[in-house]
Amino acid sequence: MTLELDSLTHRYGDELAVDDVSFGIESGELVALLGPSGCGKTTIVQAITGHVRPTSGRVRLRGTDVTDTPPESREVGIVFQRSTLFPHMTVGENVAYGLAARDIEPERREQLVDEYLELVDLDDQRTALPEALSGGQRRRVELARAIAPQPDVLVLDEPLSALDRALRERLRDEIARIQRETGVTTLFVTHDQEEAMALADRLVVMNDGDVSGIGAPRTLYESPPTPFVASFLGRSNTFSATLTARQPMTVALGDHEIVIDGTETDRPTGSDVTCHLRPDALSIRPSGSDRALSLPGEVTRIADLGRRYDVTVRVEPGVELVVERTAAPPTIGESVTVELPSHALSIFSGEENERLTERAAPEARSQFDDPRPQS
Ligand code: ATP
Repeated sequence: MTLELDSLTHRYGDELAVDDVSFGIESGELVALLGPSGCGKTTIVQAITGHVRPTSGRVRLRGTDVTDTPPESREVGIVFQRSTLFPHMTVGENVAYGLAARDIEPERREQLVDEYLELVDLDDQRTALPEALSGGQRRRVELARAIAPQPDVLVLDEPLSALDRALRERLRDEIARIQRETGVTTLFVTHDQEEAMALADRLVVMNDGDVSGIGAPRTLYESPPTPFVASFLGRSNTFSATLTARQPMTVALGDHEIVIDGTETDRPTGSDVTCHLRPDALSIRPSGSDRALSLPGEVTRIADLGRRYDVTVRVEPGVELVVERTAAPPTIGESVTVELPSHALSIFSGEENERLTERAAPEARSQFDDPRPQS
């Protein structure tokens, strides 16, 4: 394990910012630390870089405990949201600055500056000042500066948040390429779930100082381990229901029973449960289609989003499901049946938010199905 956080806890006075967080990053892996504002991401970054001394827990780099090691003695490269390039130094001098602290011969240092500027495709800008570069080019110089010293781990702290959407997507691809080519172990910190899913081998999803889920993006998306992951990663229809049978697990929503074949639970019948369904996993059939996992309802809204329609169907008073659909939508007021594939249904116990539906075994997939770049 290249980076290991072991039961990391941090308080600012009475404020518990990070609560017993543990995860590790393997050599060459790109892990995204994902969560909303205030969930503790920056505190974790600062514990890794050495700018925060955690209240308890340990930080290890390549197996060595660095919890008490000062920042300058840790082999951590970092790129922040805001530019930290020195405006009076050229691009080449900025990259060389990251190497100066290391015991590297001047000649080798020059070679490394060339190599890393070439890696980020800025070898022709070596003598330029940062002010002469575009926002995207400045980010790439910072990447080169952070990676050139070949750190144990590269931390990218919301590096794309201050950029416009098109540039963000281009740079995201650049970061993926550079990370693949260098194999640098990377922690990518972001609040943007699409960015995290597009880039990362694994996600660590945080909420309110806690880890809510760790896993491959698709696994977490399809089988969210917690209601927070279900609602934070992509969109989710959420409704409350009652457990009416334990094997196979059956839940009642108003007068309708949903039987989930192949599942069982030891929860008592009558328990409250919370159900999550992905809008992109649902489909609509004409009214009367009779399948075990379906709910009749009435179309109440249709949003035309260009590439797809969001069709809202009221299946019970107060319970509406959004269904994503690319084909022509039904009309408002029409009676329809919403089909729920059983793998799309995540059920959590009402109180502890514990997942009750079995995590589906990953299906065999074509390599073309994987939305993330192959290494
Ligand atoms: P953001 O994306 O908004 O920076 P974050 O996920 O990085 O959020 P942190 O900045 O680590 O989260 O903050 C976690 C919690 O700790 C928040 O409730 C925040 O208000 C609190 N906090 C952070 N820094 C301090 C501080 N220096 N003193 C007191 N409380 C702090």
